[in-house]
Amino acid sequence: MSATPDQITIPTDLLPADGRFCCGPSKVRHEQVDAIVAARDTLLGTSHRKPPVKNLVGAVRSKLSDLFSLPDGWEVVLGNGGSTVFWDVATFGLVDDRSQHAVFGEFSSKFAEACAAAPHLGEPSIVKSDVGTHPTLEAEDGIDVYALTHNETSTGVMMDLKRPAGTSADTALVAVDATSAAGGLTWNPGEVDVYYFAPQKCFASDGGLWLAACSPAAQDRIERIGTSDRWRPASLDLRIALDNSRQNQTYNTPAVATLVMLDAQLDWMLANGGLDFAAGRSAESAATLYGWAESRDWATPFVADPAQRSHVVGTIDLDDSIDANDVCVALRANGILDTDAYRKLGRNQLRIGMFPAIDPSDVDALTKSIDHVVAQLS
Ligand SMILES: *Cc1c(COP(=O)(O)O)cnc(C)c1O
Repeated sequence: MSATPDQITIPTDLLPADGRFCCGPSKVRHEQVDAIVAARDTLLGTSHRKPPVKNLVGAVRSKLSDLFSLPDGWEVVLGNGGSTVFWDVATFGLVDDRSQHAVFGEFSSKFAEACAAAPHLGEPSIVKSDVGTHPTLEAEDGIDVYALTHNETSTGVMMDLKRPAGTSADTALVAVDATSAAGGLTWNPGEVDVYYFAPQKCFASDGGLWLAACSPAAQDRIERIGTSDRWRPASLDLRIALDNSRQNQTYNTPAVATLVMLDAQLDWMLANGGLDFAAGRSAESAATLYGWAESRDWATPFVADPAQRSHVVGTIDLDDSIDANDVCVALRANGILDTDAYRKLGRNQLRIGMFPAIDPSDVDALTKSIDHVVAQLS
């Protein structure tokens, strides 16, 4: 008789040192929590309009500029509400009339839906591809924002960021949802105007904040729409956010502990070599995970094209003879958490966070733990 999933004990020497593989919120390093403790008398519980918190916001903005090697003239803008709120912010303050969207999963479809629902915008253009792949955007008349998703977290597909051929920032901005990619994948600012994200994925902090690196062309657009007579709620006004960010402030009160953890993660990334270091860790984890899946006859990387297989979110299909849910239950009983597939995708699949904070050796240990569980289940 095979074991029931929650009775399986994985030998300690196979287990990862840290069992957190969630795709967001994701593993927070202990040093980031220590940074909160270190801030307990000086930052926590102090005014966000006074120098200590303003300096923290300033440090986060300048460290992000360093990490991404942003050219002169770019600004890091931030506000409350996470990436989902940034979609609404963008409908009010970034899209002039019509956007075009690469839609290839749950997250990339959401910004398209927000634009479609906005009464002051024209009908967005949708370029769709099957889940497990990504589409390519092409220049289209009348489009003023091209919307890309650096990493589709629901399916584990990553894409290279490129301005659609024949377009330029003078007329059409490239806006990238980089929520799960920022800090774990490399990109070239020359191909992008707005690179936005939230800090609970590669930056290993908490949710609730949005950050957007904005090119000079994007700032011009924000100023123009922000001084037009288009109605916009103040809390979603990108021009107000830009003005506040330039003064190292937010329009309303931010979560200070979230900023402290984000700042600590940026220090760790920069001290170890910056984006190449951070992206390198994720790439190493990904090579381990996909290599392992290809070597097992009961596991297959969901994304067929190796170049589109995400380095930060790995999706592995299991053979029908093995219930992925049972595997997740057994892993959870042994302290390995949140390996479940994205529910709406509805596949017999494991989904593994491989953000920079996650040790590549722990991804290796995870594969050995899964091997053990599968052997026990069959
Ligand atoms: C997690 C995620 C979001 C949603 O982020 P929130 O901060 O929860 O709004 C949006 N887009 C992508 C690609 C994501 O991975």
